[in-house]
Amino acid sequence: MSENKMAKAITICEVCLRDGLQNEKTILTTEEKIDLVNKMSDAGFKVIEVGSFMSPKAVPQMANTDDVFKAMNKKPGVQYRALIANERGVDRAIACGCEKVKLNVSASVAHNIANLNMTPAESVAGFGACVEKAKAAGIGISGSISMAFGSPWDKEISIDTVKSIVEAYLKVGVDEISLSDASGMAYPTQVMEMCPEMAKAYPEVTWWLHFHNTRGLGVANIFAGIMSGFTRFDSSFAGVGGCPFVPGAAGNVATEDVLHMCDESHIETGIDLDKAIAISRQVVQYIHHPTDSYILRAGKAKDLILEVPKKRVKHEEKK
Ligand code: ZN
Repeated sequence: MSENKMAKAITICEVCLRDGLQNEKTILTTEEKIDLVNKMSDAGFKVIEVGSFMSPKAVPQMANTDDVFKAMNKKPGVQYRALIANERGVDRAIACGCEKVKLNVSASVAHNIANLNMTPAESVAGFGACVEKAKAAGIGISGSISMAFGSPWDKEISIDTVKSIVEAYLKVGVDEISLSDASGMAYPTQVMEMCPEMAKAYPEVTWWLHFHNTRGLGVANIFAGIMSGFTRFDSSFAGVGGCPFVPGAAGNVATEDVLHMCDESHIETGIDLDKAIAISRQVVQYIHHPTDSYILRAGKAKDLILEVPKKRVKHEEKK
């Protein structure tokens, strides 16, 4: 925790349309998604995860991602990205005009070996063709490492395991990397130890942090990242998005909660908080159930200017 240098400005990537909605029962229409994405760029979001190019059978919630990309307004200066799993994903990105894709690997050695019979680093080595295809088409490509802070299947995820995955990404030509806490196990002092170490070991990497609020530490972990000089964070409107391993647990960190913290702490985001809150309310209307957003429940601190309640003493009692 020695090299803390608090960031004065940060970039938020809004992931509601992908990470948030991929586990929801309600499937949003193409028009609803386009309305949301256009409102996001208007509110000042500079990076938006629009969806994923997975099998529509496996993730029906994301089946219309291609149509959203084709019909949404592309505001200059805004990066619209999508999650992919393989070369087919790159093909779909090319076909619909998506200019930024993201790969993912789990840092859980146990999970990776059980499901793919490979270590995480070996999985990343297999992304080479994908990266080449994307780059040849002029599409930016980044990589994410889920379970980077802890996994339900491994006693511990060592920093050396995470480093070996980072090195595997660098080897296939990916130098924008997200450390993701999909299991919701990260804690602030861990973030403050890991971030400076990774930044120092790999200065060529553009880092993102992706926290889930499974155990209520999402905003604290983001603040720990900010204190460590990291400047790019994912979050999701209203905190939409389940934790796949803890039924009923809170999902992602709510974007409006992060923006409110930044607003109060004078950390620049370039995003209009009131517009973001309005979009968040719209998302909640679409999914038909309440979420774990503090700001949607309590409102902004600055809006709370109440009249001091007066003690009502009856005139007669005074005598
Ligand atoms: Zn996530």
